[in-house]
Amino acid sequence: MHIKEIELSNFKSFARKVKVPFYDDFTTISGPNGSGKSNIIDSILFCLGLSNSRTMRAEKLTDLIYSVDGKSPGTAEVTIRFDNVDRELPIDLDEITVTRRIKSSDSGYYSYYYFNDKPSSLNEIHEQLAKARISQDGYNVVLQGDVTRIISMSDTERRKIIDEIAGTAEFDDKTDKALSE
Ligand code: ATP
Ligand code: MG
Repeated sequence: MHIKEIELSNFKSFARKVKVPFYDDFTTISGPNGSGKSNIIDSILFCLGLSNSRTMRAEKLTDLIYSVDGKSPGTAEVTIRFDNVDRELPIDLDEITVTRRIKSSDSGYYSYYYFNDKPSSLNEIHEQLAKARISQDGYNVVLQGDVTRIISMSDTERRKIIDEIAGTAEFDDKTDKALSE
């Protein structure tokens, strides 16, 4: 499974609807400073609910909505299309989509998630993504500084990351639960 395309609408510097294609082996994004390269990575963290606003380099979530001169459309949306031809996610579809939309409101913001166009909770989406070993602690997105952090971790902490990536951590949780029953 891999990302096929990301569609951004009013997310950070992407004012118009923009589609970013990804290839099945390797994709690099290049461009001048401030052109929006890192914003594309932020959009992955945002859409899949893998991070809080700080690691997306925003004070608050509504700062992720495109704005110029204090004017903003008040809503932003990101869709990620995954190629699932290899059926890594055990759903009989070649394409899986996850969409997240936020709307600013007087009291803060509203957040909406969709899995294959159906309204979903973030929990439901994380449960699905976990089947393809995509998780908050899974280092599917490796950010600046992560490598240094991993190097300076204790052996036990590093082991936990390997368990998480290998997908065995969930069995540890289940074993602990079973033993305590
Ligand atoms: P570098 O090469 O320096 O790492 P980059 O290509 O990664 O640059 P980004 O950090 O992705 O650049 O983009 C930064 C730009 O995004 C800035 O110009 C900033 O003003 C703009 N930006 C961030 N949030 C918003 C927003 N909510 N509305 C409009 N523009 C925004
Ligand atoms: Mg950058």
